[in-house]
Parts: sequence; structure tokens; C-alpha cells
Amino acid sequence: MPDLHTRVDLAPDFGADVVPEGLSAMARGMVSSSILTIAWEIRALRDRGVPVADMTVGDFSPREFPIPERLRDLVVEELRAGATNYPPPAGEPDLRAAVREHVRRTQGMDWPEDGITIVSGGRPALYSAYRLLTDPGDAVLYPAPSWNNHNYAQIQGLRPIVVPTSPADAFQPTVDLLRPHLGEARLLVLNTPQNPSGGVMPRDEVEAFGRMLVEENHRRLAAGEKPLFLLYDQIYRSLVFSGHVHYSPVELVPECAPWVVHTDGISKGFCATGLRCGWMFAAPAVARKAAALLTHVGAWAPKPVQRATARWLGDAAAVDAWTEDVVGRVRERLDPLHAGLLALREEGLPVDCIAPQGAIYLSVRFAVEGWRTADGVELRGSESVRRWLLENAAFAVVPFSAFGVPTELEHGWVRVSVGAVSVAEVQAALPRLRDALLTLRPPAT
Ligand code: PMP
Repeated sequence: MPDLHTRVDLAPDFGADVVPEGLSAMARGMVSSSILTIAWEIRALRDRGVPVADMTVGDFSPREFPIPERLRDLVVEELRAGATNYPPPAGEPDLRAAVREHVRRTQGMDWPEDGITIVSGGRPALYSAYRLLTDPGDAVLYPAPSWNNHNYAQIQGLRPIVVPTSPADAFQPTVDLLRPHLGEARLLVLNTPQNPSGGVMPRDEVEAFGRMLVEENHRRLAAGEKPLFLLYDQIYRSLVFSGHVHYSPVELVPECAPWVVHTDGISKGFCATGLRCGWMFAAPAVARKAAALLTHVGAWAPKPVQRATARWLGDAAAVDAWTEDVVGRVRERLDPLHAGLLALREEGLPVDCIAPQGAIYLSVRFAVEGWRTADGVELRGSESVRRWLLENAAFAVVPFSAFGVPTELEHGWVRVSVGAVSVAEVQAALPRLRDALLTLRPPAT
């Protein structure tokens, strides 16, 4: 080929001197994910040959948690059949129908198809809800810890009202806790089963939120105020155990339906984070706007994935069998971790842990603030504890401060995720953790 182009070599971070002041205020205010920074540190340790139990990522390793074989085969089949052009803006009709049936079958709600919008995962559904239901300067109410609400609030220029939750409630908020802050909010965000705590909101509380929404919006309607919407993130819906059941406020209090926006998808329930397929179901007046907005962003789920997911969801028996199996495999990891940590507590070591309820997470407390390491260094703040755990026990966790909890309220709580570890890795991590904790010295009293 004739060389018609001059070669231009650009430095790795060219423009760093002139570009930043040109960025929007929103872009300048954006903070990068502290979880990713931690993940890079772990990769570096692993590259040096240290066998780290990586309990930091909220993802599934395809080695430990592959997607359903049938779903994989269907994606390949659809790709081969030529499903490579644009999907319709609101999603493939077959998938919207399959989601409708899935919601009806698993949650008892018969949702109109016009209220179902297919998008590329849980994130675009959350992002569009923030964009569609609030205006810059409005208040958004959410609990801490919670996943990424601080980022969405910042992107949308909202005033966050962050309410700390308690380990006694598995870090799920209660209506009583949030009620005093309702008046100011345009949007309330709940997530159950929850990232990072693994807590599942109890039925009574879900129902109380539904009632509260109806009450508050009747008051607002009468006063001519804008309604309060509830963004209900149920991406871990099917991953519940030990008698915990996932509910939607709409199934318990149907009158609250106009103000509830559900987000869900295949990322967690089918370990398919990389396939990028999720959905929103809400009042059609919201769902249609989401389809319109995301058309401009181009955040459609890939067409072969949509078509394959429709066929996969359509096989109810296979979906149920898969779900039972994956829940078992998650518990194979969470249960021994929980039991092992409780045994350490029994021994008098400074750890605590909430029993697994749902998702792929465990809330664990390392109550070592002010303790001294073997070489006399005092542990202060969750970052020093995290680092100490990583370097001395090869135990990699994410502190709750990464989920919006102010450091002074963190009290040593961290998220432990089992999506990327084997049962053997969990078993090997516990004695390492014990040995390391035994080297710590409590503060002199
Ligand atoms: N909601 C919660 C609570 C999550 O933890 C995640 C992923 N970590 C998402 C939504 C987004 O999922 P997706 O990968 O489908 O965008």
C-alpha cells in the first residue's frame, strides 16, 4: 500500500497540560473509583507471585463462576444467525416479552411491556433514572454504605442526603431512619440484596417503604409539589439465602407503582457482567424516556445478547435450576468464611461478621483501630487496616468508605466479595488471617 499518511507519535498522556481546565465542572468533579485503585494494587502483588485472596471485586471470575452454558451457546447461535445490527431502542420485542413473563413468574407483578426498557446492564438503567427523575440542585436520598450513588449524584449535580445505616439491620436502611429526610428529596435510592453489605431488606420494611411512598406522594400531590421517586436496584434479586426473600414494594403495596423504578439485569444473577444486558421496569412514562435518552448514549444491550437472553429467560426450568446451583456455589464460599470469622471472634480476635443474607458479599469488621502491628506501627483508619490485611494476610477487601461511609463512622467494616475466589482460596485465607491477627497488639488501656 502506498504510504499516504505522515506518522504522528503522541506521548502517553499528551494534552495533560492544556486539557483539564477545558473540562466541564462535572468532569472535573468526577472521582475515580477507589475500588479500581485497590484492584491494581492486588494485580501488582499477584504479578510478584503472592497468592492473594482477591475478595475486592464485585465481579465474577469466569473460572469460578462461568455464565450458563446454554446462554453462552445461544449468544453464539444468535451471532452466527446475523443478529449484528441495531436493536430497537426499547429493546428486542422478544426480550421485553420474556422480561415481562420473568417478572410475573418470579415476583408476581404483571408489568406492561411499555414499561420495560432493555439497556446495556444495570448501570445505564441507574444513570438514566438519575437523569430522568431529578434536576441539578435537587436532593437525592440514599443510605451509606451503598454502591456508587455518590458518583451518580455528582454527575447529575445533586445534593446528596446520605443516611448511615447500622450493622443491626445488616446495613439496610429502615423507613424510620429515612423518614426525617424525605421532605427534601426528589429521589430515594434503595438496593436489595445490597452491595456492599449483602443485607436483604425484610418484607415488613419493603412494605413500609411502599406505604411511605404512597403517603408522601399523596401529600405532595395535594400540596402541588413534585413527587418522590424510588429507584429500586434489584440486580442481585435472585441471590438470596438462609430464608431471606427479595420483595418489590409494588407487589406489597401496588398503589406505589407509578413512583417505583426497578433496575435489574443478567449481570449478577447469571454471572454475566461482561455480556452487558439489563433492564428497567417502571411506569411507561418513565421507561419510554429512558429508551429515548439511552438511544442518544447508544447504551443498548448487544443484539445477539438480547436475543439469547430472551430465549434463556423463556426456559423457566433451566433458569430456576441454574439459580439454585449458583446460590449453592456462592454459599459454599460465604458460609465457611462467615463460620471461620466467627471462630476467630470466639477466640477473642478483633473481628466480627454479619451472617450471609444475599448477593455475593459479606460485611466483616476488623475492630483494630489503634492496635499495633508486630513492628510497632499503629493502625489508624480503614486504609491502613486494608493495606495491613493485604500485606500481612494476603486478604484483599474494600473498606466501607469506598461506599460512601464517612471514615469516622466506618468502625472497621469492610466488604468481602466471593465472586472471584475458589472454595480452596477461602479455606487457605482463614488461617493466614488468624496468624496475622495474632501478631497484633491492642492499645494499652
Ligand atoms: N447495582 C449494584 C448494586 C451493583 O453492585 C452493580 C455492579 N457492581 C450494578 C448495579 C451494575 O451492574 P452492571 O454491571 O449490570 O452495570
